[in-house]
Amino acid sequence: MRTAVGIIGAGPAGLLLARLLHLAGIDSVVLESRDRAYVEHRQRAGILEQGTVDALRAAGAGARMDREGLRHDGIELRFAGRRHRVDFSGLAGGRSVMVYAQTEVCKDLIALQTKEGGPLLFEAEALAVEGADTDRPRIRFRHAGREDVLECDYAVGCDGFRGVARDAFPAALTRTFERTYPYAWLGILVDVAPSHDELVYARHDRGFALLSMRSPHVSRLYLQVPAGTEAHEWRDDDIWAELERRIETTDGRRLERGPITQKSVTPMRSYVHEPLRYGRLLLAGDAAHIVPPTGAKGLNLAVGDVVTLARALTHEQETGSARLLDAYSATCLRRVWQAERFSYDMTTLLHRAPDATAFEDRLQLARLERIASSRAAETDLAEAYTGFPFD
Ligand SMILES: Cc1cc2nc3c(=O)[nH]c(=O)nc-3n(C[C@H](O)[C@H](O)[C@H](O)COP(=O)(O)OP(=O)(O)OC[C@H]3O[C@@H](n4cnc5c(N)ncnc54)[C@H](O)[C@@H]3O)c2cc1C
Repeated sequence: MRTAVGIIGAGPAGLLLARLLHLAGIDSVVLESRDRAYVEHRQRAGILEQGTVDALRAAGAGARMDREGLRHDGIELRFAGRRHRVDFSGLAGGRSVMVYAQTEVCKDLIALQTKEGGPLLFEAEALAVEGADTDRPRIRFRHAGREDVLECDYAVGCDGFRGVARDAFPAALTRTFERTYPYAWLGILVDVAPSHDELVYARHDRGFALLSMRSPHVSRLYLQVPAGTEAHEWRDDDIWAELERRIETTDGRRLERGPITQKSVTPMRSYVHEPLRYGRLLLAGDAAHIVPPTGAKGLNLAVGDVVTLARALTHEQETGSARLLDAYSATCLRRVWQAERFSYDMTTLLHRAPDATAFEDRLQLARLERIASSRAAETDLAEAYTGFPFD
């Protein structure tokens, strides 16, 4: 099997890259280890930055998002029984975010790819990338019970944090940067209208809580729990009681309850793999970097990477110049490190470490007070939350 660009992984990064290449007239093949239903229903992110919204529209994948997505012009911070709204429209130059679930982004892109694009093979597991430093990289994969090889001009690892593409980078070329956190997120999906019309980020002495949503009828709620927690350890009633405690305000607002349809635990990690390119192998999205979800950046970083990569591959095809491809890693890493910084700041601002001292508690509250009382501090949050421009 042969193609111009071999893409490993049909998450948001791999699917959008295939779509952008198709629009530029460049052939690709996508290999995805899971089946279609699994990819379309895997609950993950749900906040799209302005740049992501613009990229999906430009790719012709924005019609349902524009009909069903919810535009948000702010978030609410809750701390010490107080509520403070960060108003993006007044602070971030008219930029906003869109609430539209990652499951729906993937469904839209899969529908386009299967209708108009190149081959998208489900249950096709990449085993290794070989010859990345040659003119003909190869992806060895297993599909329908037998091994095969995909030869390509470029191989792209969009295979997430647990993928195989990174393994093809020589150790001598690679640097990794990592931080783990002593807590995780217990997330529930609930068939009930959101209790608040914007996201609520709550800092509490018992730990962080987040009120989010996936649609006008489906709420997504999170609780900080110790790292290593299993979802089944939490009974539904205990989750609701804990959420109520952590989002408490002095005005006595209550949470809307409903049937919990899904419960899962998301670990918290920061990770960057440098560089993003070795020869004719490129990494994009979670394959190259992970952020804790507090800043809602993971999916948006993946989109930023593949927009940059598609532009570089198109430029090479049209002009014969590899200038943008040569700059790909450095271009993306500038944005990645800004997102790492913001995600780390939001995480340490709002979560309570198990060994937190009274001094650190007071510092957290002082940082929150600063955001609530300084336009400069609030602007910094609003600009980062609504997204760094794609280069
Ligand atoms: C459990 C979890 C929960 C998350 N929750 C949130 C959240 O609440 N909020 C938030 O903002 N962000 C969240 N994120 C982050 C966000 O979802 C990711 O940043 C985003 O999915 C990145 O997209 P991607 O395409 O780079 O990687 P992925 O979405 O991980 O896609 C990678 C794809 O590659 C496939 N693959 C892996 N290995 C192979 C192989 N060997 N061969 C072929 N295919 C392979 C996988 O099956 C997958 O489909 C979460 C991430 C995870 C893992």
